[in-house]
Amino acid sequence: MQRKVRVRFAPSPTGPLHIGGVRTALYNYLFARQMGGDMILRIEDTDSQRFVPGAEDYINEALAWLGIGIDEGVREGGNYGPYKQSERRDIYREYVGRLLDAGKAYMAFDTPAELEAARAATPNFQYDASTRMQMRNSLSLPPEEVKRLIEAGEKYVVRFKIEPGREVKVNDMLRGTVSINSSILDDKVLYKKADDLPTYHLANIVDDHLMEVTHVIRGEEWLPSAPLHVLLYEAFGWADTMPVFVHLPLLLKPDGKGKLSKRDGDRLGFPVFPLEWHDPKSGEVSSGYRERGYLPEAVVNFLALLGWNPGDDTEIMSMQELIEKFSFEHCSRSGAKFDFEKGKWFNHKYLQEMSGERLAQLFKPVMAEHGVDPAAFDDEYIVRAVDMVKSRINFVSDLWANAAFFFVEPESYDPKAVKKRWSVDTPRIMGELIEVLEGAPDFSSAALEPVVLGWIADKGYHLGNVMNAFRLAVVGECKGPHMFDITELMGLDATVRRIHLAVERIPKAE
Ligand code: GLU
Repeated sequence: MQRKVRVRFAPSPTGPLHIGGVRTALYNYLFARQMGGDMILRIEDTDSQRFVPGAEDYINEALAWLGIGIDEGVREGGNYGPYKQSERRDIYREYVGRLLDAGKAYMAFDTPAELEAARAATPNFQYDASTRMQMRNSLSLPPEEVKRLIEAGEKYVVRFKIEPGREVKVNDMLRGTVSINSSILDDKVLYKKADDLPTYHLANIVDDHLMEVTHVIRGEEWLPSAPLHVLLYEAFGWADTMPVFVHLPLLLKPDGKGKLSKRDGDRLGFPVFPLEWHDPKSGEVSSGYRERGYLPEAVVNFLALLGWNPGDDTEIMSMQELIEKFSFEHCSRSGAKFDFEKGKWFNHKYLQEMSGERLAQLFKPVMAEHGVDPAAFDDEYIVRAVDMVKSRINFVSDLWANAAFFFVEPESYDPKAVKKRWSVDTPRIMGELIEVLEGAPDFSSAALEPVVLGWIADKGYHLGNVMNAFRLAVVGECKGPHMFDITELMGLDATVRRIHLAVERIPKAE
């Protein structure tokens, strides 16, 4: 019988979620939604040494911001909980017991000093079939001694007893069957009596099984652990329901070789975290996509294409389209270069697609930051202003540099442009222009343009000089959208006022 698809994203709350982890979560989500399956969020917090306060909230907030929906988890609940590993100690204890009873695991009492000595004595020492009988464990010690040590409360760990000489096969959807010989594996620690907690490997397998996970989709860095995971599934007698593995390729540095790191982000000036992160210990702040002004849809689209393509050159895809088109067949096996310029391009594209109303809403706080009260303007005015300049922006915050003049009169005038375009004659010509504007029957862009251009031609004035002086007066510099679109939006009074102001303020040329 075909099992219902169930996938899990299983982060460890050891810090902010890296952008590579976000991509892993996204691929899990896309696949689950496409298959009508379930998406689980499991918090793997068995390593108390590496626990970082705030990291779990951060993970939830980041996924919610991006629209990566979770069906079962700590917050969402579900029938397979608890979804936080530190709350599942009883379960792990039971399963460790099962392996011990079946002789598939054993207790090891070696102290750190003894392990150190073994490592010093034997080059490339590995705790495995070839060495375990020389160590202090429940296989090498007499049963009475083992009993005595346990009763005396000695600390021990439980190790997985790996049988050497076996071919272990991992079925990976991207890589096919990966085979390794079990002799190269060591007897991994599965459980530590001292803190009554399992290690990652045991907890991960027991949970994947109990939570009926069908596909393990995770980063390539976990591929070396997969043979051990296969052996654990077998040791428990769960081989029939072994999940399919998908080890996703790494995200690589934008330049050069190797894995994308936080340092690359700092060096090249882009975030590697979805949200801003305030390190609770060091106080260090790391920038996030959200705070940098990225739209969640753009980040999702950008990340989806880092390691996958839809089979053609379509680039702009909504979450719904990604869900429909996603397939592991079109996932690449080699690492994906993290092209952050492309990330900006996606943001630019999404801003172009956005309705003027939404863009205006996003712009209002930016106006307020710059000391302009958005309530002082009609919504319609703000919408039309941002619409006129949006083709020039990558981020909402860029709107200010491009649209500020719609909301504040120029306080200064670009000196270079003044030098080039403002001559002794200009004030007189601007006076005439005011008369032309006031006399125009219709102030719309299309109607006003021929009137003004006609006047310039009739008078034999220099078109570039007059139009640039006009622009300088209204905008403060010689750039911006089409001049008559600007005047249409500002209206006659504001336009004329600005020309008067410029004539008063721009120093007379000598
Ligand atoms: N807790 C592991 C991590 O932090 C999970 C790896 C896995 O998905 O198996 O990535």
